[in-house]
Amino acid sequence: MSQRIAILPETITNKIAAGEVVERPASVIKELLENSLDAGASDISVEIAAGGRRLIRITDNGHGMSREDALLSLERHATSKIRTDSDLDGILTLGFRGEALPSIASVSRFRLATRETGSLEGTEIIVEGGRVKDVKACGMAPGTVISVEQLFFNTPARLKFLRSAETETGHVGDTVARMAVSRPDVAFRLTSDDREMLRVQRSDLRRRIAQAVGKDAAAALHEVAGTEGGITVTGFISGPQSVRSTTSAMFTYINGRFVRDKVVQHAIMQAYRGVIDRGRYPILALFIELPPGEVDVNVHPTKHEVRFRRQSVVHDALQAALEEVLRRSPWLAHHQEPAPPAQAAPPTGQAYRERIAAAAQASLRFVEQPPRSSFPLASVFETGPRPVPTPTVVPPGGPVSIREPAEPFHPEPAPAESMGYFSALAIIGQFHGEYLLCQSGAELVIIDQHAASERVAYQRLRQQFRAGGVESQRLLFPETLELSFGEAAVVGRFREDLIRVGFDLEPFGGATVIVAALPRLAAERDGMQLVRDILAELAALGTSVAFDGAIDDLLARIACHSVVRGFHPLENRQITELLRAMDETDFAASCPHGRPVSHTITLVELEKIFKRT
Ligand code: ADP
Ligand code: MG
Repeated sequence: MSQRIAILPETITNKIAAGEVVERPASVIKELLENSLDAGASDISVEIAAGGRRLIRITDNGHGMSREDALLSLERHATSKIRTDSDLDGILTLGFRGEALPSIASVSRFRLATRETGSLEGTEIIVEGGRVKDVKACGMAPGTVISVEQLFFNTPARLKFLRSAETETGHVGDTVARMAVSRPDVAFRLTSDDREMLRVQRSDLRRRIAQAVGKDAAAALHEVAGTEGGITVTGFISGPQSVRSTTSAMFTYINGRFVRDKVVQHAIMQAYRGVIDRGRYPILALFIELPPGEVDVNVHPTKHEVRFRRQSVVHDALQAALEEVLRRSPWLAHHQEPAPPAQAAPPTGQAYRERIAAAAQASLRFVEQPPRSSFPLASVFETGPRPVPTPTVVPPGGPVSIREPAEPFHPEPAPAESMGYFSALAIIGQFHGEYLLCQSGAELVIIDQHAASERVAYQRLRQQFRAGGVESQRLLFPETLELSFGEAAVVGRFREDLIRVGFDLEPFGGATVIVAALPRLAAERDGMQLVRDILAELAALGTSVAFDGAIDDLLARIACHSVVRGFHPLENRQITELLRAMDETDFAASCPHGRPVSHTITLVELEKIFKRT
């Protein structure tokens, strides 16, 4: 019989974040699952009835407790996980507060049955509303079974806050799924009213995520593995094809603990900026490991929040690890053609010239068609409800030829011999004042000029910003703008920073600000709406994240406002310029909002349409 548990002295309990952890069935289950995992269980079963209100039962095969420990475990501040003050600085277990079991036992009819590994029998303790009713020996398998019946039976006020059985069951499901994703090496089972909701065998992380988010989504996951500044990030993330409209498929863990953290969330969204749309969230399971002294989990009683000692280091390490994977843009080739993996990157340089030369041979039939007389796409639209502007047709440049790049757009030009994918396209013309039609070998490439321009503007703004500040344009007549108080306060707080991104805004008392200058790229458009958007974005950030962390978001906003929407004829020169700029742009396949920039129709596909094959 060993004794592991001791009651913490007041000097330590005073330092532990105080507060109620038992809000609803899911929070009971979270605490009990943490205990089972801390006890080394490899097999955990959860049963609930009526959403957990009638019954919660958790059975584990962990190391169990001796009779003495079982009795002690129900005392407040009784724990086997920390002993001294300094232990608080390096917590490795999920629990440490010694409060869950007594809290749960005080608001339910509670039964603890536990058998320590190596002991011949178990101990059963019955507690009702915090009072121990019975303690006796019992026969059972090694491990621990905790039953919680009639949660909140003696606290009607809390009972009132419970939602329907379905809602509570949903929360329980989420809680178990988060735990299950964090520990693929542990088998979990969840039944609700005797129906099995989840059953997972011990396996690896990829399979475990598939079980949590669905097989089709999990198939498109990319592995992350990065270390920077003592911070390790591992896991799986989705590309832009698999996204969700909520954060529900974002499983983030800090030292094994599921955490929803602003810094973590921000770093992730920052990495995805330009890859997925605003309001969309990736599917991911990320494990951030850092020395325990670097992170304080003793911030909130439910331990859902943490505090990092070096917040920006964690932020940057996480962002870098994700960008490393996202930058490889495995989906880029996907937009253009189903290339074998070896050709997944956008083709540039010699390899590309060879390919296009070969393709040009095969495409002669296609370029021989004069574009104006055979404009099949236009005729599709003629019958549609929208008026069709006359296509601005640029004379076709004859068979595809490789042109040398002219004036470099980028301040640090790419080597002259590397002709990018977009610059090498032969321009056919513009369709509907919104799309560029180009030819690449035996492929018709359609480019969304708005998405492309937005992407290019974003890149330009980033370069200007890095070179000292976004180019600004003063307004002839400064305008006043009425805002919310929160937004107006942002102006005062970030005035200098806003100047760096091209705005000159001055607080004018109350909720009014004066707009004196705007980023030059966006100055011609609806500048006041841009100011509102930017301030709303900054106001929503709060104070926890530095302005610098939001810069990419802000630049993307400005880029978005810089682009002319709708019908917008371009001259050949402007098209060439845009294509060249696109080659100098990262993530060329999507605009900052994640929409695709180009789409390819192959000759074979066209021939199918015209029943030529
Ligand atoms: P904490 O987890 O913060 O230590 P709890 O009140 O949750 O506090 O649990 C008190 C103690 O009871 C734990 O420290 C642990 O020693 C013991 N205990 C709780 N649940 C289990 C379990 N399932 N298996 C073995 N020991 C357990
Ligand atoms: Mg605990």
